[in-house]
Amino acid sequence: PAEEVDEEEAALAAKLSAYRDVWVFIEQTEGEAAKVSWELLGVGAELAKSINVALCAVVIGEGVGHLCQEAFSYGASKVYLLDQPVFHYYRTEPYLNAFCYLIDKYKPEIVLMGATGMGRDLAGAVATRVKTGLTADCTGLDVDDKRNLRQTRPAFGGNIMATIMCDKFRPQMATVRPHVMPMPERRPAASGEIVHESCAINEADILTKVLEIIKDTKGQGVDIAGAEFIVSGGRGMMAPENFSLLQELADELGGVVGASRSAVDAGWMPHERQVGQTGKTVRPKIYIACGISGAIQHLVGMQDSDVIIAINRDREAPIFAVATYGIVGDLFQIVPAITDRLREL
Ligand code: FAD
Repeated sequence: PAEEVDEEEAALAAKLSAYRDVWVFIEQTEGEAAKVSWELLGVGAELAKSINVALCAVVIGEGVGHLCQEAFSYGASKVYLLDQPVFHYYRTEPYLNAFCYLIDKYKPEIVLMGATGMGRDLAGAVATRVKTGLTADCTGLDVDDKRNLRQTRPAFGGNIMATIMCDKFRPQMATVRPHVMPMPERRPAASGEIVHESCAINEADILTKVLEIIKDTKGQGVDIAGAEFIVSGGRGMMAPENFSLLQELADELGGVVGASRSAVDAGWMPHERQVGQTGKTVRPKIYIACGISGAIQHLVGMQDSDVIIAINRDREAPIFAVATYGIVGDLFQIVPAITDRLREL
């Protein structure tokens, strides 16, 4: 039996060793790349370096050749480019076929995608088709000495951090939310190899047709995920009209107003403004938490902010554990006082 086990292990090792390189899917809409793709090239470069393989980007679309240079400038050394009319709009079927075709041909060891609407859809479909594992919404990625990707993410409602590995299948696939990983440095002069590929997909065979694109205007154009200054309110705000206090402070800073889930569930703020595990992940220069206790599900969405200022009347509130500056007191006095002081400056 010991010999059988050895044989099994050897067969598995041989199967896995056919896979190499770290791939990042460059998500684009109308030729404009999602920033999370560049963030993933940053973490992808570290992973590729630690297992001594190449960092590659996968660009799929129509008229998207310009993204290859961008991918080089953010650290990729090779780009697999599929530039065909059938890829003009994102649709699961053609992108799935294209991505699986590339995986089958080039066998990547690790595949990373943004945990966006598109990335989540495509990653799940690809992992199912190629019969491998997928860890969604990772907050940390590194590689162990057996080249297994350690994928860390919150689990059980955010109460623990789980490290997940996919040690018997390749590629190892993970999605990461926007703003979780830092942006890598841009080197515009960097260059690399472009591998032009094409995939035999007929428009007539695709079940989904795009009839019209309707832009989402519900969030009123406020992008809390990309904001540099965020003033967030929680249950301590007591009523929806009190959020005007936060808006005034945000206006002084040139920032936006965010919210905890309690404030969103109470109907005080729209869901687009929610920060946290089931909301957005943010990484602003300054995050001001007003009347927010600091539950783990909130913290995972904002704890990487450069500076965190917490205002809470409970000095034991967990938010103070991650705060750069903590103010213990009544937010209804403190917030207007800060706004007034900023107006004087
Ligand atoms: P509370 O915990 O009630 O805190 C209110 C705070 O306001 C208290 O600390 C209080 O001391 C303070 N306060 C009250 N009055 C004042 C005053 N006048 N001045 C100063 N301070 C005052 N939560 C999120 O935020 N985002 C998520 O994405 C998210 N996802 C979740 C996912 C799951 C699966 C689960 C189970 C929970 C999730 N939650 C999320 C909910 C989370 O567990 C907490 O319930 C929530 O974050 C609490 O919101 P809060 O801090 O606004 O309210």
